[in-house]
Parts: sequence; structure tokens; C-alpha cells
Amino acid sequence: TAALSIKNLRKVYGNQFEALKGISLEVQAGDFFAVLGPNGAGKSTTIGIISSLVRKSDGEVRVFGHNIDTHFSEAKQELGIVPQEFNFSQFEKVRDIVLQQAGYYGLPRAKAEVQADKYLKKLGLWDKRNTPARTLSGGMKRRLMIARALVHEPRVLILDEPTAGVDIELRRSMWEFLREINAQGTTIILTTHYLEEAESLCRNVAIIDRGVIVQNTSMRALLQRL
Ligand code: ADP
Ligand code: ADP
Repeated sequence: TAALSIKNLRKVYGNQFEALKGISLEVQAGDFFAVLGPNGAGKSTTIGIISSLVRKSDGEVRVFGHNIDTHFSEAKQELGIVPQEFNFSQFEKVRDIVLQQAGYYGLPRAKAEVQADKYLKKLGLWDKRNTPARTLSGGMKRRLMIARALVHEPRVLILDEPTAGVDIELRRSMWEFLREINAQGTTIILTTHYLEEAESLCRNVAIIDRGVIVQNTSMRALLQRL
């Protein structure tokens, strides 16, 4: 089964604006996949629907075969989502934010603590674990979002513009980290409007423009055509 399967996905905002015009795509298990497109193409809308935060107008989404409408809790366990906006409480402590998310996924407390600490260490946040999130730099907040998304060890990690507004040094270390977890078997899907980011990381790519997928190919084939 595909890690992610999207069929004829449509989204109409406010009964008039068709942000997604019936997109279909498949991402195979173990892939590192880019959804590449300009601002306004529909990338965040797609991720919003996969994470059940945005209501779709039509179509079907499956995560490892689990339909997000009919098998929401199974699909949810497979998914780690890193949204573009920081959506944790700025006043909570870093470790508590990750632990709360573990609770949301139903991890027992002891397991949650082990997992939270593992990912806080991996993402260089261990020294900050007892500080309120608001004191973190932008790059650290971004890494906190990733630690939180991984705490239940999902098989699919989806990141919406993970390096937007991130400086070059941190961007490179995040790329390195994503390569590492992909090499360990996690399927990664990211959205980006930087060809360079997709080129450096991804094996396969879908190009989306104004709610339509205009290309869906290997990164290598895309680069040969450019
Ligand atoms: P729906 O109920 O159709 O899913 P939402 O509740 O997501 O739509 O959005 C309601 C309204 O908020 C939209 O119709 C729009 O006027 C406004 N809105 C929110 N975010 C945006 C955006 N990024 N671009 C344009 N309009 C937006
Ligand atoms: P991207 O992530 O590729 O920049 P989005 O999915 O955020 O694109 O937006 C796709 C289109 O849908 C844009 O034209 C955007 O203005 C519009 N849009 C996004 N959210 C809303 C909303 N809540 N209400 C109305 N329009 C929206």
C-alpha cells in the first residue's frame, strides 16, 4: 500500500474559490517526496486536509490504506504533521509541549517521557526542555514542531514549508536530520516553493499550480527537463 494516496481531492473555500481542483497523487512508503509550487498553489490546503484540520469538498485521502474519514484514528497514528505556523502555547515549557502531544496520541506516560526526551535530544532542544517556548529562537521553535510531530514515531512525516524563514545554517542541519530519519525508514513529504530544497532532498516531486498538479515525476527527470 502507498504511504499516502490522494484521489480527486477538491477544496472550495466559501462556496466559490476552488483552491484544489481535483488533485490525485500517490507517495510510496519510504519515499522522500516534494510538493513544489508557488505561493497560493494549494499546498497548505492539501496538508490541512490530510491532517483533518481543513474540511475537503470532495475526494479521498488514505494513509497506509486508512481512509481519513472512516478510519481517522488509524490514519492519525501513522501521521506526523509539522504545520507552517507555530501552533503551540508560547507559555508552556518545551518538554511539556512534546509530552502533551504524546498524550494526544495515547502514549502511556512512561513511554511518552522516553520518546519526548529522545526527540528533544535529537533535535538539540534538551538544554531548553524546561524553558517556556516563547524564549526559543525561530529555528528552535521549528525544531520543537518536528520533535512534537515525531513523538509517536509515525511512519509518515509531513512538513509544510519546513525551512521558510530559517537561516542557511539551520536549513542545512534540518535537511541533514530529515535525510537521516528518511534513511531510517520514515516516509517524508514536504511542501516547498524552493526548487533547491526539493532538489537537494527529494526523490519524487509533484508540482502544483493554482490547484492543479501539473507534473508528477522523479526529481531526476524533472531536472533533466528544466
Ligand atoms: P470553509 O468554511 O469553506 O472551509 P474557512 O472556514 O477555512 O472556509 O474560511 C472562512 C473564510 O475565511 C474564507 O471564506 C475567507 O474569506 C477567509 N480566509 C481565511 N484564510 C484565508 C486565506 N488564506 N486567503 C483568503 N481568505 C481566507
Ligand atoms: P500554498 O500553501 O500553496 O501557498 P494555500 O493552500 O495556502 O496555498 O492557498 C491556496 C489558495 O486558497 C490561495 O489562493 C489562498 O488564498 C486560498 N485560501 C487558503 N485558505 C483559505 C481560506 N481559509 N479561505 C479562502 N481562501 C483560502
